[in-house]
Amino acid sequence: MEENIIDPFGTSIITDYSKLFTQLGLQPITEDILRRIKNPSRYLRRRIDFAHQDFDKFLASFEEGRPIAVISGIKPTNEFHLGSKVTAEKIIYFQKEFEAKVFYCIADLESLVDNQIPLNEAEKIAIGNVADILALGLDPKNAYIYRQSEEKRVTNLAYLFSRRITLSHMKNLYGERHLGLYFAAFTQAGDILLPQLEDFDGPKNVLVPIGLDQSPHIFLCRDIVERVKDVFHFFPPSAIYHKFFRALDGETKMSKRDPMSVLFLNDEPELAKRKIINCVDGGRKTVKEQRRLGGEPEKCVNYELALFHFVEDDNKLKKIYEECKAGKRLCGECKEEIADIVAEFLKKHQKKREKMMDMARKLLQK
Ligand code: SF4
Repeated sequence: MEENIIDPFGTSIITDYSKLFTQLGLQPITEDILRRIKNPSRYLRRRIDFAHQDFDKFLASFEEGRPIAVISGIKPTNEFHLGSKVTAEKIIYFQKEFEAKVFYCIADLESLVDNQIPLNEAEKIAIGNVADILALGLDPKNAYIYRQSEEKRVTNLAYLFSRRITLSHMKNLYGERHLGLYFAAFTQAGDILLPQLEDFDGPKNVLVPIGLDQSPHIFLCRDIVERVKDVFHFFPPSAIYHKFFRALDGETKMSKRDPMSVLFLNDEPELAKRKIINCVDGGRKTVKEQRRLGGEPEKCVNYELALFHFVEDDNKLKKIYEECKAGKRLCGECKEEIADIVAEFLKKHQKKREKMMDMARKLLQK
């Protein structure tokens, strides 16, 4: 079996999630942790958020009424897709349930250095991205949304941090890369630690809800905290890691590069439906076989759409799973059912997004 590959700047492939606990030193999300949370999100309940670092410390800060914050961001290279929606919904959840202040970074310096997107182009894309997250429910009154290129405190931190880390350390974490990507990683560390500056009321526990492919940034950031402790009294960042939502063609990582294998939140609902009807499923070769053996929801992207995104009710999800396994469901009608839910979601989301465009412009151009 192929080894797990984690690459924040390329393609990550996870063949065995269970190995990651020892491979990366992550902690599992346990029942004990969930019992401490009043309304666990569907990502937590369903163990899509499956691993963490110091999430228990973040919870302790919250329980003891100490300050907390949550940070995430987006690299403005394209429209929001379902992968971006996962991270966005996670920070919105912590804003609502934990009243945590949200820091949302538009990583335009990273899109410049990694994807060669000029800053003015990135800004146009970012306005749409911010409208998306507002439409998903982010409250801008308890959020700081910024572009890296405009936030001097982040780049200043990146310069300071780069002085404390050696090239071999970066090669160990990221492999051999051009220096721009290493500097993008220092800039991300600046983003993650920004909420702990005195301008934002000083050190505190900050949670980073993040995809597993981005875990090297958390490791780097935690190493930096240790190495700058003579200057800053930062808390090491906490993180919760989610599993990958597969592309519609079944590939492990949702790629922004093949439009037909990705559902974008601005897709025409009819196009989105067509994409779902054509997605990889866990059906058998014939109807007769499916009735006899049942389907394989574990292999099915349509089921993953329900699990990650579009069926909130756990009982309804369980019913889909059990009917599939028992051969009571056939893939054609099952995909139609999910496709209709997705189309309805997209129609509503796109209306809300349109209304949020002015606010998004104002937030980014202030
Ligand atoms: Fe997937 Fe539905 Fe087919 Fe089962 S019946 S494999 S859940 S599409």
